[in-house]
Amino acid sequence: MKGRLDHVDALCDLLEAKLAAAPATTARRLLRPQLRWVAATPDGDELAHRLGVVALVEACRDDHLASLDADDGLAALSVDWRDVVVRTCARAAGARERRTCPRCGARLRRKRAERCGRCGLASPIHRNRSGLS
Ligand SMILES: [Zn+2]
Repeated sequence: MKGRLDHVDALCDLLEAKLAAAPATTARRLLRPQLRWVAATPDGDELAHRLGVVALVEACRDDHLASLDADDGLAALSVDWRDVVVRTCARAAGARERRTCPRCGARLRRKRAERCGRCGLASPIHRNRSGLS
């Protein structure tokens, strides 16, 4: 059985996938600012509902639940949608600030390093920007 944080991370992954699937301008101008606003506003539940942020997380939860057995499903259901929003924003902010290797965590020397100096993983950031993915 997975831990609670595993479920939060799994839901973050699904939320990121939904953002990645949205048109780029919609994600950048609308969805991501909404997520950041909700994450920064602890008493903004009503607006979070109206903006559709809660529905977005719940859609991710439905997808996630489909892959789980009963025990894990219960743990996934107990995750607060707000925790998913806050963690997704924190992960996105971390990815912007720290250029670290997503596999081994080594700090990437140059901003646009093509490969991790420690494990040799090709940088996904670089691949996306150069359009070679
Ligand atoms: Zn690495």
